[in-house]
Amino acid sequence: MEGLKPATEQELAEALAGCAAAQRTIRLGGNFTKDSLAGPVAADVTVSTCAMRRVLQYEPRDLTISVEAGMPWAEFSELLAANRQMVPLDPPWFDSCTVGGVVATNISGPRRRLYGTARDLVIGMRFATLDGSVVQTGGMVVKNVAGLDMAKLLIGSWGALAAIAVVNFKLNPMPPETRTWAMEFDSAAAAIEARDRILQSVLQPAAIDILNPAAAGGFELSGRFTLLLQAGGSPAVLERYNRALPEARAIDCAIWNRIREFVPRTGARRVVSAHSNLRDVLEKAEGEVVARAGSGVAYVAGAPAAAPQPSEIMKKVKDLFDPEGLLNPGRANAAAL
Ligand SMILES: Cc1cc2nc3c(=O)[nH]c(=O)nc-3n(C[C@H](O)[C@H](O)[C@H](O)COP(=O)(O)OP(=O)(O)OC[C@H]3O[C@@H](n4cnc5c(N)ncnc54)[C@H](O)[C@@H]3O)c2cc1C
Repeated sequence: MEGLKPATEQELAEALAGCAAAQRTIRLGGNFTKDSLAGPVAADVTVSTCAMRRVLQYEPRDLTISVEAGMPWAEFSELLAANRQMVPLDPPWFDSCTVGGVVATNISGPRRRLYGTARDLVIGMRFATLDGSVVQTGGMVVKNVAGLDMAKLLIGSWGALAAIAVVNFKLNPMPPETRTWAMEFDSAAAAIEARDRILQSVLQPAAIDILNPAAAGGFELSGRFTLLLQAGGSPAVLERYNRALPEARAIDCAIWNRIREFVPRTGARRVVSAHSNLRDVLEKAEGEVVARAGSGVAYVAGAPAAAPQPSEIMKKVKDLFDPEGLLNPGRANAAAL
């Protein structure tokens, strides 16, 4: 299979247009981090953004950044951390995933509770289409989108519509201090009740996950279910948690790295559960389980794979961008995720 590694957005657009003109199918990716799980897409040509890894614009005082899609997420996070800033998406496969791959798959992690997902954090984008165009959507200011925001279509499109070339993010300052607490419970119902109590209070945790002991690994959590909280702020703000939750035990923040890599470590599947049946998902899970208790999404090891079905509207959008089905053939279904 031929492999192309365009170094600029124009080269990316030319690569797509060249393949389209020759009716060649394209397997599009960053570092192809997840091929082992999903199985490689069979295609004539591989197009990787891995040579597109520049920072195009970064003004820390404006709290915005523009980077090329192939920039490794770990490098991106390190650059921001040097200015005590962050894009708190916490993607799994942290060490190998790219900015474009994270945005294309709309992956988020525990801090989604407070900061949202890529749809909340991406303020602009440039993407290359099969006709060789580079399309600009949004920009570098936080409120700039009128009408249809094309970036929202590309976020979560799994490379089935176009190739993301450049992503602009709004940035969050890192809190002065971050702490983690564990609360142990004998039942999922009690853990969920505590979650409700916390979320209805003045406390604003960045993350609120529920997990079972198997998922906690070496962190020695004793309850049948543990409610894990992460909060950031000044020492005075964080002391409020100690006062409001005397039963909560402060633990090492490093547990979040283990939780971030839960899916790569276990091959767990995402089970989207309405808040109302989170209790069921937690109780019925036979293996390790981690629930994003603030957003109703749970990851369950050993859960059967669900085959996502594209909606009629997704099929129409796919037809608009890629009528010949050249981009990521066989993965168009994933665009329904
Ligand atoms: C529970 C769970 C299950 C997952 N299962 C899968 C899975 O089965 N397969 C999978 O691929 N990912 C899966 N992911 C997402 C995975 O986390 C990310 O795909 C990966 O971390 C991104 O790595 P990468 O940047 O190397 O992108 P790649 O692994 O190279 O690509 C991942 C996907 O994003 C698309 N993509 C990458 N870069 C771009 C770009 N610049 N423009 C447009 N599209 C792009 C690719 O076409 C592909 O569909 C899963 C995540 C979770 C939480």
